[in-house]
Amino acid sequence: MKKELNLFTFHDLLQHYPFRHIDRTRLHAIRDLNPQSEFAQVSGNLISFEVVGQKSAKRLVAQLRDATGQLELTWFQGLSWVQKILQTGRPCLVYGRVSFFNGRPQMVHPELEWIDPDQPIIRNFLEPIYSTTEKLKAKGLGGKALGKLTRQLFTQIRPADLPENLSDALMQQEGLISRWAALQQIHFPADPSQFESAVKRIKFEELFVAQLRMNLLRLQRHRHSKGIVFDRVGDAFNSFYKEHLPFELTGAQKRVIKEIRTDMGTGRQMNRLLQGDVGSGKTMVAILVMLLAIDNDHQACLMAPTEILSRQHYDTIRPLLEKIGIKVALLTGSVKSAERKKILAGLLSGEISLLIGTHALIEEVVQFKKLGLAIIDEQHRFGVAQRAQLQKKGQQPPHVLVMTATPIPRTLAMTAYGDLDYSVIDEMPPGRQPIKTVHRFENKRIQVMEFIRSEIDKGRQVYIIFPLIEESAKLDYENLMKGYEQVKSWYPEPRYWISMVHGKQPADVKETNMRRFVEGDTQIMVSTTVIEVGVNVPNASVMMIESSEKFGLSQLHQLRGRVGRGSEQSYCILMTGAKLSTDARERMSIMTATNNGFEIAEKDLELRGPGDIEGTRQSGALNLKLANLLQDRDILFSAQAAAAELAERDPELADPAHMGLRLFLQQRVGPVRWSRIA
Ligand code: ADP
Ligand code: MG
Repeated sequence: MKKELNLFTFHDLLQHYPFRHIDRTRLHAIRDLNPQSEFAQVSGNLISFEVVGQKSAKRLVAQLRDATGQLELTWFQGLSWVQKILQTGRPCLVYGRVSFFNGRPQMVHPELEWIDPDQPIIRNFLEPIYSTTEKLKAKGLGGKALGKLTRQLFTQIRPADLPENLSDALMQQEGLISRWAALQQIHFPADPSQFESAVKRIKFEELFVAQLRMNLLRLQRHRHSKGIVFDRVGDAFNSFYKEHLPFELTGAQKRVIKEIRTDMGTGRQMNRLLQGDVGSGKTMVAILVMLLAIDNDHQACLMAPTEILSRQHYDTIRPLLEKIGIKVALLTGSVKSAERKKILAGLLSGEISLLIGTHALIEEVVQFKKLGLAIIDEQHRFGVAQRAQLQKKGQQPPHVLVMTATPIPRTLAMTAYGDLDYSVIDEMPPGRQPIKTVHRFENKRIQVMEFIRSEIDKGRQVYIIFPLIEESAKLDYENLMKGYEQVKSWYPEPRYWISMVHGKQPADVKETNMRRFVEGDTQIMVSTTVIEVGVNVPNASVMMIESSEKFGLSQLHQLRGRVGRGSEQSYCILMTGAKLSTDARERMSIMTATNNGFEIAEKDLELRGPGDIEGTRQSGALNLKLANLLQDRDILFSAQAAAAELAERDPELADPAHMGLRLFLQQRVGPVRWSRIA
């Protein structure tokens, strides 16, 4: 049993919660069954049974009669086995979901139990049914037998064996029953309302403990990490803000800058995640907070995952900051050694205030005079080790801001990244034309290709994306090549020029192809998802995604974010084959219905579950058995609030009222395993 279900201790057995209960407290008369009955328990005599129908439509139909009427029982599976155990004329008890056919009640695959007519049928409990495995069933530990074991366990333990871990005050405030009562009632509820109370208590406890742990971790970090104090807003920030800001900041940008500024002024080291949908304007936030570092006599660096992205940042930022006399340098793998030497010297002397680059900037040889802030763009392409490396670049660890466009619903982010501080840009710059998204089947290809031609002829550029899924990389690669040839035959040279980028190309070939597209030398970019992150080509107005059904929602949304960056109307065309799974259909309809990254992330979460979402794999570490981050929002919110409040008020859990909790955290919750951002 241990191995099969991962149950090792009596706690594990207690926490192997039943997935449903059979209500043994009521017996229904057949006459009283109605379409609203749902599950019912009926006792009666089996009067007949027979196999009817042919082949795959074969089924076993039995008739059960009580004093008030007749109920039909049907089995579609395991016919020969059921046939063997059925006996006419013998009293039995059946339990199952009631349905109606031609106005007559029936049950499909009911649970059936022979009864002794001299014994009372009504029991005073809801019988728990547990998930189990075939192997265990074979050994007699089926879905019901586990209940017997658990029931037995409860005769041998007492409340002291399951000590309370929530304070009286908290239980009262949240209206929660005790832990002992909850564990008993979740297995053997006295009635449905007590079961509800047990479920609520256990869900709350799970979420509360997870949140509290995150909060305590964050507090610990706040307390023990000494950070550089940026308490000044000086000339660099002010003159840039007043004279050179190319647009009015959105409310969200202002709020986030303020959050970051406050954080960097507290004297502790900042470790913050900044989330904002593609195009929400994270770059300007980065620029302004880097100016704060400069105002406080420190240097700043901005790290991007690719050469092309670094260069793009450099091309945007340098002209802006040159105006106020701030020296910006670009350091990537392709910077020649003479230039490189100059940059390294400039960093050491402090002449260069702002360094932009790829991984190259975390190499050992890159030394700063006084690095105060490191910003990482597009977090998911960076490993933890690289972030740690960045931390070592100063006498005092620099503040770290990680920017990501992978939207994670706020509730989940707070749960999964609760040990980090968190800011979100939840507003788009004004005046954007929403991207028009359509879903097209293969039979519309001609129209689609002609539409694309008309866009190109207007002077616009186009992305055509092919899937590259790891498991079938070879096949996908062939598809990409075939696709490229086809695109070329639709749009022949010399009128049209095509860039192609994929993961198997040498870096310089990739760079050249990207560059040509960015600079407008090619009108069409044929690519795999390597293009996904951050590229900014405002003139591109069409994103066409081949075999869209192979992509997840978040990825589709990221890809779509490559267009709609200029003033022109942009389009996203999702091509699919004719045969789609329900899931894929749903994804297509979500994509065509909304442009909102956070909404999409929520849907993604619903469709795939939290475990799959980029960057939140850690949420498995939350150890949730019963609680569901999506469905139990209300409980999650109160647990979050309570945990935050407690962490604030009694971070050491020193109050005697919190002793139970302290012991619980020490004993039952293992060490924190997930990686922190820095
Ligand atoms: P992302 O968050 O995806 O990194 P960017 O910082 O690249 O987004 O910004 C996307 C585009 O929006 C850029 O062209 C930028 O200049 C523009 N932008 C950013 N903030 C504003 C604003 N407040 N008003 C108008 N345009 C803005
Ligand atoms: Mg960006």
